[in-house]
Amino acid sequence: TESAEDLKRLIREIPDFPKPGIIFYDITTLLKHPEGLRRTVDGLAAQLQGIKVDTVVGIEARGFIFAPALAYHLGAGFVPVRKPRKLPAERASITYELEYGQDTLEIHRDAIGDGHRVIIADDLLATGGTAKAVVDLVESLGGKVVGLVFVIELEFLNGRRRLEGYDVRSLIKYQ
Ligand code: 5GP
Repeated sequence: TESAEDLKRLIREIPDFPKPGIIFYDITTLLKHPEGLRRTVDGLAAQLQGIKVDTVVGIEARGFIFAPALAYHLGAGFVPVRKPRKLPAERASITYELEYGQDTLEIHRDAIGDGHRVIIADDLLATGGTAKAVVDLVESLGGKVVGLVFVIELEFLNGRRRLEGYDVRSLIKYQ
């Protein structure tokens, strides 16, 4: 759509970051733009119209920029999923495979109650490995993942395939 194209122009593409051959989609240029920021958060909320949401879960670090704004907009709560050893209370952890190596994410065990309706939000969907790990964490606590929402989707990496059966939405797509 036209407005997605406008937002796309505010995203900076950095070649060879963090490694040679990778293009990094830098959202800081979108964030610093007042209208761009507003339209992004409003756009994320619009993707979720009609869905009843108790909790928006955001993934460290760039999910922390969008998820709380979205939660505020929806009248939901915000729950952080963090890198290891950051959360102070009792945690649930998940370790998942990356292209090279592994990563671990954690959530407070009491952050999500049985049957809570959860949206998972992040800046970018690539392979879907991170998002799928967070789905598993949320479900392990009895939460129901009613959708996942991303500012950017790299369609050529097929992240959606990892998230089959879930409602996946994104604002800006790269083919
Ligand atoms: P995945 O697990 O889907 O392969 O990777 C998605 C995660 O990596 C997200 O948490 C996202 O923040 C981060 N990520 C990977 N590539 C990029 C990129 O080009 N730009 C940004 N902003 N984040 C990225």
